[in-house]
Amino acid sequence: NVAVVLFTCDLRLHDHPPLRAALAGGRQVVPLFVRDPAVDRAGFAAPNRLAFLADCLRDLDAGLRERGGRLVVRHGDTVEEVCRVAAETDAAEVHLAAEVSAFGQRRERRLRGALEAQGRALHVHDAVTTAVPPGAVTPASSGHFAVFTPYFRRWSQQTLRGPLAAPRAVPVPDGPASEPLPSREKLSGVAPALAPGGEGEGRRRLAGWLRTGVTAYADRHDDLAGDGTSRLSPHLHFGTLSPVEIVHRARRRGGPGAEAFVRQLAWRDFHRQVLFARPAAAHADYRSRDDRWRSGRAAAEDAEAWRQGRTGHPVVDAAMRQLLHEGWMHNRGRLLVASFLTKTLYIDWRVGAEHFLRHLVDGDLANNQLNWQWVAGTGTDTRPNRVLSPVAQGRRLDPDGAYVRRWLPELADALDAAGVTGAAVHEPWKLPESVRERSGYPAPVVGLADGLARFRQARGLE
Ligand code: FAD
Repeated sequence: NVAVVLFTCDLRLHDHPPLRAALAGGRQVVPLFVRDPAVDRAGFAAPNRLAFLADCLRDLDAGLRERGGRLVVRHGDTVEEVCRVAAETDAAEVHLAAEVSAFGQRRERRLRGALEAQGRALHVHDAVTTAVPPGAVTPASSGHFAVFTPYFRRWSQQTLRGPLAAPRAVPVPDGPASEPLPSREKLSGVAPALAPGGEGEGRRRLAGWLRTGVTAYADRHDDLAGDGTSRLSPHLHFGTLSPVEIVHRARRRGGPGAEAFVRQLAWRDFHRQVLFARPAAAHADYRSRDDRWRSGRAAAEDAEAWRQGRTGHPVVDAAMRQLLHEGWMHNRGRLLVASFLTKTLYIDWRVGAEHFLRHLVDGDLANNQLNWQWVAGTGTDTRPNRVLSPVAQGRRLDPDGAYVRRWLPELADALDAAGVTGAAVHEPWKLPESVRERSGYPAPVVGLADGLARFRQARGLE
């Protein structure tokens, strides 16, 4: 009487419907994680995420061992490995969380076919990796919501299932061999200040956030230097925290900060229901604007300056360097640098999305590709031609220049030496030449007015 639980983007024991269902009736359970080379080939095996994943698997294994179980890790094609483990343990059923991506949905279909051919059942569980499952709320006119506000109205009216406690015991059958657990120490290319992963860490962070941080979220979430957001995104990506549980706990906390925070979690579900309905939007324009993005040598050089945080536009460069150092970037930074790449430099959003996926610890197909499209104006933004000015945004979101100074020390030092303070840091081209030379900070790759004129012409807005 055995069931296999396949863990994917749900690396936790609390509020885990597949695990709960597998344990029902006193069954023994094989908690399984498969490192699938197909996921690596698709570009998802970036060092930062592999390091965070290693922490998550170790923590999951430790949690299972406290309950009498252990994690089985295999390497290979997911469908073949699940079938092999099921055959080795004579499992009657397999449980897993529903998937949203095209890859995940295909894998689910293949798995169902392969298991049924062996006479075993596959049970797919909703509301594990989202609060509201994709497809649970739909507009009258079409299969999915393309605009956030009406989606959010309906999302907010949904009754969520109650969160489940972690099981007290997880009895496992003898037998199935496991590969050694990965460890972050063995990986190279990991960002120096990457956050630690794991369910324990996620739950501590969530508790601290709900106790103190969330209260000021409505006022402070846009403050670049203040770091007033939850930083729960990698935990949501790897599922060390349950979105259903977070929404319940934030609502219980109450207040404008918690409400604003819950709204952001709805954005996450929103993008997932778009990707679920239109899997091609991971790569192709959701709405084409007939863009003929710049290409060629000059564009390649601009893109490289952008990647390295050397565009000469301080707030853009600061955010890009935060990404390289932490494997994470503030949401306002993401909006700014994406607008800069796609609109000021007029470079294809896919170039930026790929760089983000290489570095972001929370790099996530739905959130990344669809936020990039939102900013590029090829997605679900209702104002597709808006352009964010780094100077205006820098002055508003980093008024005393603390964020820029933190990430661009060469500029900060030169400014300090010249006695320049405050928001002047956002327009270094206005500084005396001696200060600019001393800093070694690059001249702008393009002036903002020129970038804007090029964009308006390209989109036929003149
Ligand atoms: P908080 O402000 O504390 O928000 C709480 C949670 O709500 C986040 O953890 C996240 O799960 C969700 N959330 C917040 N904003 C958004 C949003 N705009 N869209 C969807 N969900 C949201 N987020 C990712 O998780 N992975 C990505 O790969 C990713 N790529 C992005 C690319 C671009 C160009 C942009 C503009 C945004 C991207 N985001 C992505 C969304 C957002 O920037 C991050 O989720 C957020 O910055 C994470 O920090 P936090 O956990 O402190 O957020």
